[in-house]
Amino acid sequence: MSKKTTPDNLETLRHSTAHVLAMAVFEMFPEAKYAIGPAIENGFYQDIDLPRTLIPEDLDILEEKMKAIIKANFPFEHAEAPIDEAMHDFEKAGQPYKAEMIRDLKEKGENKVSIYKSGSLVDLCKGPHLDSTGEIPLDAFKLTKVSGAYWKGDEKNKMLQRIYGVAFATKADLKDYLHMLEEAEKRDHRKLGKELDLFCFSDLVGPGLPLYTPKGTVLKDELQKHIESVCRKYGFQKVSAPSLAKPELFEISGHAKKFGDELFHVTSEKKHDFVLKPVQCPHQTQIYASKTRSYRDLPIRYMESDKQYRAEKTGEVGGLSRVYAITVEDGHSFCRVDQVKDEIKNMVNIIKDLYSSIGLWDNHWVSLSVRDYEHPEKYIGEPSDWDICEKILQEVSDEMGLEAKRCEGEAALYGPKLDFMFKDATGREIQIPTVQIDFATPKRFGLEYINEKGEKVPPVMVHRAILGSYERFLVLLIEHFAGAFPTWLSPVQTIILPISEKFKDYASSVEKQLLEADVRTEIDASDESLGKRIRAAKMQKVPYILVVGGKEIASNTVAVNARDSKDQTVMPVGEFLEKIIAEIKEKK
Ligand SMILES: [Zn+2]
Ligand SMILES: [Zn+2]
Repeated sequence: MSKKTTPDNLETLRHSTAHVLAMAVFEMFPEAKYAIGPAIENGFYQDIDLPRTLIPEDLDILEEKMKAIIKANFPFEHAEAPIDEAMHDFEKAGQPYKAEMIRDLKEKGENKVSIYKSGSLVDLCKGPHLDSTGEIPLDAFKLTKVSGAYWKGDEKNKMLQRIYGVAFATKADLKDYLHMLEEAEKRDHRKLGKELDLFCFSDLVGPGLPLYTPKGTVLKDELQKHIESVCRKYGFQKVSAPSLAKPELFEISGHAKKFGDELFHVTSEKKHDFVLKPVQCPHQTQIYASKTRSYRDLPIRYMESDKQYRAEKTGEVGGLSRVYAITVEDGHSFCRVDQVKDEIKNMVNIIKDLYSSIGLWDNHWVSLSVRDYEHPEKYIGEPSDWDICEKILQEVSDEMGLEAKRCEGEAALYGPKLDFMFKDATGREIQIPTVQIDFATPKRFGLEYINEKGEKVPPVMVHRAILGSYERFLVLLIEHFAGAFPTWLSPVQTIILPISEKFKDYASSVEKQLLEADVRTEIDASDESLGKRIRAAKMQKVPYILVVGGKEIASNTVAVNARDSKDQTVMPVGEFLEKIIAEIKEKK
């Protein structure tokens, strides 16, 4: 009965399944008014205006009805109708959304519309569809959720109900997908951020403005210490700048135009007029400009971990992915043209070091993002400078064995760049680090150095982002490790559990030794049973749980329960200390 469904017609399969859903809804609610039902990634949705709000149980009923419709094997019949006749028919059938869509088509000058009929459903639709409903596999789709959606995406319009579903070619594909979804849900940084007490939000502070709790702050600070120590080895010096600047700074840099209404303006009764910095490069140019520079001084490398602010649309509630205030680890090298290549190699090595240390480097690819050659007007700077930059990046890729894939049209406004893509533990692709050559910004700010011949010439600026923002990187870390951070990053590295009240003093003496060695430690001596306290510590994903009782006191030992092992090992306190200190130091 069913033709084999290949990935090529997955979209057709998904869209056809949306029709089947509309048919099922119709059976349940004859007065339903339906809007659009497109295929989306992994599935489809159907927007419908219904007399009541759907509950989760309704989805089970709808799925059963859909299966019956699939079994009935209704053909999808195509027809074309004159536009006025179609509009009249849909209005008469009590389908105002379809009628409005036809009216919109008429305004665009159409005089015919494409109609699909399957079973009792007559739908305005361009297609394509499967030949009949029977081609949809019975066991490879699932309705997943209902949410609200405004008609035509406009909040002035009526809110409709949107039923989401997923659909695949085989039952096994559906199973894999649902498993992946479950895994992603378990790892969701919003959920784990709450469970592990890493960050929070306050209505009074405002949405999009995350607050780091003590544990989240440890995580962020450890990350910062690590990245700064890596960068210091490559000659970066730390600088710091205020969050505000005169609007002029960003007009010169081009960011005022680039970010437009995403800029936050700060004014005062005393006639102050400032902009909150949306990026950090412009402030750093002014540190460079504070002194006369000679060719011998270059390269000069600055790094900075500061907040920057953009009024982005915050689509996400309670998460770190889209926030107004982000903490960015930003760095620049001001150098001579003959130094650019080594500077870039330097930065690629930093990226390699950092991403290797968290186990992501083995699963990466690099994009050499160059101009859109057909639209040079989209960029600033001299074409000859662009030629040089693109050539340098290609050479870096070849000499370092990066095998960068050339992606046309992906360059930044100022210049071409290398972008690094990683796959996290759930298989999602994440693009964070970037290295970018910029001839334009130094010229815009009139930056100079004195060359060998005594002439004043502009330096080149190489931008690099290693973490992107701390917020984005924390999302990656939380979800990649599912909250079980490596010991060096864990907010609490050990937790000591005295078997009973009697052993509290010994627990405190062990705690003292650990704290003195800079190991982040807590004691849980609450009245709960040992089993319960162990479970709670495991939920918090603490790398080492140390249980202490009479035996341990007698031998000056601790019973070590490592997060990733089922066994308990008893060892002298000194030996455990040595082991954990080495592990933290080596960032294993
Ligand atoms: Zn259709
Ligand atoms: Zn920059």
